[in-house]
Amino acid sequence: MSGDIAPPLALLAELTHRCPLRCPYCSNPLELERASAELDQATWQRVLSEAAALGTLQVHFSGGEPLVRRDLAALVRHAGAVGLYSNLITSGVLLDRARLAELVEAGLEHVQLSFQDSDAVSADRIAGLAEAHVKKLAAAALVREAGLPLTVNAVMHRQNLERLPEMIELALKLGAGRLEVAHVQYYGWALANRRALLPTEAQLERATSVVAEARVRLKGILTIDYVVPDYYARRPKACMGGWGRQFLNVSPAGKVLPCHAAESLPGFEFPSVHAASLTEIWYRSEAFNRFRGTAWMPEPCHSCERREIDWGGCRCQAFALTGDAARTDPACALAPDRALLDRLREADAAAPAGDFIYRQIGAAPAPAGRYFLAHSP
Ligand code: SF4
Ligand code: SF4
Repeated sequence: MSGDIAPPLALLAELTHRCPLRCPYCSNPLELERASAELDQATWQRVLSEAAALGTLQVHFSGGEPLVRRDLAALVRHAGAVGLYSNLITSGVLLDRARLAELVEAGLEHVQLSFQDSDAVSADRIAGLAEAHVKKLAAAALVREAGLPLTVNAVMHRQNLERLPEMIELALKLGAGRLEVAHVQYYGWALANRRALLPTEAQLERATSVVAEARVRLKGILTIDYVVPDYYARRPKACMGGWGRQFLNVSPAGKVLPCHAAESLPGFEFPSVHAASLTEIWYRSEAFNRFRGTAWMPEPCHSCERREIDWGGCRCQAFALTGDAARTDPACALAPDRALLDRLREADAAAPAGDFIYRQIGAAPAPAGRYFLAHSP
């Protein structure tokens, strides 16, 4: 079925799962890779060359924290040499002047910096790391001083959504050109922490009007990306622009995935960069073709007019909530399983937030798929 498949726009290169932070909503899988399993520099360079040959335009260097890799500048340089636009997605806590200069000299073109909160005490608590916030502020200043465009990624949830106006002011003060107001997505670590993170309806309504007002007030100064979180949506988002349509993800150990959360899906043999080229994997692997297009869809998606708009929503969320990755995403109000999501949302919003389960290697709380079954009200 490769005839009408376009090349991916972007490669998410997850260089490592190591990270000094311990965010309870981390999008990394519950079973984190250890440093000894990571691809070496030469293999990553081959992967970048293969991505360019496939027609990919951008690479997002991500993790974990990509700055823990001492060869990051060499990878950025290689990306530029093969014609890829390079973006660094970082927590910023390991970024100093010398390291940034090395990356700029290697050709880095954009930095996306995450913030846990506008309030330092709360931010450090969410990150699970003392002094994280103050280091991030310093990192943002360095990025702007170096003349690189900056995107602030603000991950919002029940425990910081009240401070969205302050987060917007922070992004402005830091000189960001773009602010991603990113509501937590509930799979992996975030699914295990859903009760601590899911906002209430009142919080969400206020946040939506704060964004609407700020978008008008800051037009031409700060671009604000905002999508209503799945648990409150009426229709799902087109997850990753559709399975195997716009993005591919390479994990620290070299697994090639349609999205960063796909390792949570059982029964998949995701191909390895050691076994096949990215071109072979993108066009011909069973894993990338499984949920591509519309032929796999059950009803009501199969005959729905939005089937080529949202592509049936998120496969990982369908699995996390129903135990079956091939069902319609329960984020859709038309989904047979929508009542399940409504029940969970109402139960979580009514319960006390509780403590975080912090992300750390070797501390996975439960397999993601079974988490729902064990914790459903
Ligand atoms: S979400 Fe937090 S813990 Fe996960 S990689 Fe990013 S900074 Fe590290
Ligand atoms: S029924 Fe399927 S295709 Fe239609 S809006 Fe819902 S998820 Fe999208």
